[in-house]
Amino acid sequence: MTWQDDAGRDLVRSFGDRMALFVRGEGAYLWDADDRRYLDFLAGIAVNSLGHAHPAFVEAIAGQAATLAHVSNYFATLPQLELAGRLKRLSGTGDSGRVYFGNSGAEANEAAFKLARLHGGTERPRILALTDAFHGRTMGTLALTGKPHMQEPFLPMTPGVEFIDSTIEALEAALDERVSALFVEPIKGEAGVIDLPDGYLRAARELTERHGVLLILDEIQTGAGRTGEWFAFQHAGITPDAITVAKGIGGGFPIGALITFGAASDLFYPGTHGSTFGGNALGTAVSSAVLAEIEREDLVRNAAERGEQLRAAIAAIDTTLIDGCRGQGLLIGIGLRHPLAKAVVAAAQEHGLIINAPNEQTIRLVPALNIGDVEIDEFISLFTAALHTVEHALLLDATPTEDVPAGAVLSDRRESE
Ligand SMILES: *Cc1c(COP(=O)(O)O)cnc(C)c1O
Repeated sequence: MTWQDDAGRDLVRSFGDRMALFVRGEGAYLWDADDRRYLDFLAGIAVNSLGHAHPAFVEAIAGQAATLAHVSNYFATLPQLELAGRLKRLSGTGDSGRVYFGNSGAEANEAAFKLARLHGGTERPRILALTDAFHGRTMGTLALTGKPHMQEPFLPMTPGVEFIDSTIEALEAALDERVSALFVEPIKGEAGVIDLPDGYLRAARELTERHGVLLILDEIQTGAGRTGEWFAFQHAGITPDAITVAKGIGGGFPIGALITFGAASDLFYPGTHGSTFGGNALGTAVSSAVLAEIEREDLVRNAAERGEQLRAAIAAIDTTLIDGCRGQGLLIGIGLRHPLAKAVVAAAQEHGLIINAPNEQTIRLVPALNIGDVEIDEFISLFTAALHTVEHALLLDATPTEDVPAGAVLSDRRESE
């Protein structure tokens, strides 16, 4: 029996075939069961902010597990209070901010959904979200996720959510006094690292304020320093009513949070929400250690600088496949001229590089925030080799054509996701 057989028999079928079996990691590298080394530029989908097995992460888990792991939310713990204070400081809530802890991105967004209802009640039943944004897979967050193919098998959805295009005009047209909240993903990661139009967040802040609507930002992928600010909204110089975070704040430990600003902090009252595991001492100690390390090593600035360095190096690759980069900092979407992203991902893996294709025309890079010259140089050489493998397989010449047979190199490869 191979591990593929075990996975095929024992694991839920909602994921595609697993692409490899990894047994250990260190820094930006992973090793599979055959002891083959891979450069990891996916970092568990923007999760392993410090890379794999970072000493700060390892020591925080071991130390806190040996001290106090969990007591339930009937009680407070020092790590929970420390992390709440740290998140308030980093996100700039000021004294009036509050933090709700869950165990995932979806749980953070579920809390945000309830916040919207608490704010709007039955007077404001409408909630606006952006077409193509991703907010999670639970029933509430699926209702917020504007992807018909994801919702379709699970209809009916929780009512009230309406999807609008990511333009200021669409927002102006949709907002009124019956809307409780606007959900925005500052850069749409799962959709293919799609940036918002210039000035969108500022306009959204002004318009939502005018109509008494909560502006709730899903920073689950963009937060924790990834875009070159602690949170992506800080590039726009606005103050939202709430943000949700997860992925990178735990560095590999499952944790999520809803951070509220100003009056939105007074909406939850006793009995309106809760979680058994959320904010336990173990998870919050690990997250604090990860965020402290990001601060100590100035990794938010590193994300901005290494992001620029990577973009420049990618632009210099000799290839007919690439059509520019999107995103910010170390959240990078590489546009492809042809729908070959899965073929590029598979070729990269064969060359020892882990990357990801959120759709067939985009390669997503979300490496650890502490990468340096060595990792970037190695990435460029492996990625270039992977691109050339795909170009070669398709006998692409220097002139890109519009109708490349995508199936040609895909047919014998496992699909990702
Ligand atoms: C990953 C992600 C989620 C869901 O987080 P989970 O931890 O998988 O539940 C929600 N929103 C965004 C923007 C994400 O990237």
